[in-house]
Formats: sequence, structure tokens, C-alpha cells
Amino acid sequence: MKRVCQFLFCSTLALVLPVPAAITNSVPHKGNVLHVSATPTNTWTEVSLAEMDARALKSNKAANELLEDDPDKWRQGQAQHYVVHFFANEGDLFARKVAAMADFFYDYISQDLGFVNDHFPFRSHIFTFRNEYRWKKFLKTQPTTEQWAYSYVSGACMFLQQAKNTKDSTETLAHENTHLVVNHFIKGSLPVWLNEGTAEYYGEFGLSAFRGLTRHSGTVFRGLRDPLPLTRLFKITDKYPEDRKEVDKLYKTAKYFAGFLMTKKPHEKFHDFLTAMAQDTDVTDALRKHYGFDDIAAAQKEFTHFCR
Ligand SMILES: [Zn+2]
Repeated sequence: MKRVCQFLFCSTLALVLPVPAAITNSVPHKGNVLHVSATPTNTWTEVSLAEMDARALKSNKAANELLEDDPDKWRQGQAQHYVVHFFANEGDLFARKVAAMADFFYDYISQDLGFVNDHFPFRSHIFTFRNEYRWKKFLKTQPTTEQWAYSYVSGACMFLQQAKNTKDSTETLAHENTHLVVNHFIKGSLPVWLNEGTAEYYGEFGLSAFRGLTRHSGTVFRGLRDPLPLTRLFKITDKYPEDRKEVDKLYKTAKYFAGFLMTKKPHEKFHDFLTAMAQDTDVTDALRKHYGFDDIAAAQKEFTHFCR
């Protein structure tokens, strides 16, 4: 299962990431506010290839090829939920910060979704690329991945290019981390619109929490000009639109729709909704069962009001 993220706003990853804050914020939802109170543990330990938790790599061709091609050049640190790989001559500073943020996101999303079960009994892997040449060389070995991609998640592995700009880098990492974490908690494959909407939602709120800030939904969802109609959004299940403006609308509308469900509807329903959608449930049926909408038109009516 490969999920190529075409996150338009990701640039590249910078070396400077904020120091993680303890997760003490209430998740800023109206209605059912969940108190996320765990504190991430910075349990980075550098390990050899023989020592690392390699269970997630068994069926990941790209990850195995990377390690086999340059076994002497890769080093890796093991954290609570992740193994982060870095090139020996690039140092471990960036990889350590990626691991801290990844562990934070795991705890944050896990608790926000209601302490759901992790169906991966192993650590995920993140391969960091701080050199554009190496990244492009790697992408050429991945013919099904868009050659302009900055990162992508495949099952329990994430491949991540370095950034030049701190703001873009942290937002990209937050967004991509969400994809990786969601793969732990949801079996199956989400439709593109819901996968990206969820990543955009947690990319915003999870990153704020990581920085020790509380975002209020009213300031995030201020109004959305010209969103995609839901009938169009829900058809974006496998392929991204070819038109870049429509891709932009996809991300924004999907984020708002996830925000609408998370902040205006019973928060605890979201995990069940994700699970249903990952099991190919018809969207109309899932919206009816989990949120009580008679049809898409009923959801559109409330969503249009939310976007104002
Ligand atoms: Zn994405």
C-alpha cells in the first residue's frame, strides 16, 4: 500500500525544529473536548542495523533496497514508536528532532482518536534525506511516485526530503507524520480526500500542540472561499486532480470537512468514520450511520454554513 502525498505546501525539511512541548493542551474542539495529557518520551538510542526493530521492513521493498545499497552509510536511532535513519556524514541532530516530533504525533493522535488500538506491532521507519541529489536518485528508483514529490508514506515507512525553510519543514513533517500515524490506527486505505483532510487537520492542531500552543477551531476555520462541492470532493478517492488549483482546493476543502466533523459533531465518531471509509464503505452510508446525515445534500447544507 503506497500513499504518495502530494502535499502542495511542503517544501523541504530544515534542520531547526522546535523543542517538543509536553502534551498538556486540551484538543481545541467544541463539544467533546478530549484532554490529551501524555508527555512524549525522548527515548532516542542509536542502534546498529542488527539491533534495530526491523519488523516493519519485512515487506517494504524501497526501504530494504535503500539499506542494502549503502549499509555502511546509514545510521539510525530508535525512539518509542519509530526508527529514524540518517546518513552518517549528515549527523544525527535532525534525525533526533524528527523522532521527537514523530513520537509526539503518535501520542497526540492516538489519544485524540480515543486511545485506539495500534495494529502495527512494531516501530515505523523514517528515512531522512538532507541531500537533494540523494533524494532525486532515490525517487528515480520509485517509478510510481511523482518525481516532484517531497515525501511520501508507504505502509509503515516514511521517506522524507530535507527542507530549506523551517516553517515549511515543520508543517510538512506534521502533515506527513499524520499519514504515518494514521496507518498505525486505521486498517485499509482511506480515500485521497479523507487521507489528506485528516493530515491537514492534525498537521495544524498537532503541530500547535507540539509547539506548546492551543489553537481554537474558530481561528483556524475562519471561512473558506470557493470550496469544492462535497459531491466533487467525495469522488477524489484514488487519483489527485491534474489541475493544481483543484488540488489546492482539495486540500483546503478536505481539511475544513475534517474540521467540521471533528469540531461540530461528536468527536469520538471520527475514528469509526475513518475505519468505515478505509473499508470502502459508501460515503453516504458512512455519513448517515456515524453522523446522522440523510444524504450528501444534508451534509453539504451544514458544511456550507461551517465554511462561512
Ligand atoms: Zn498528504
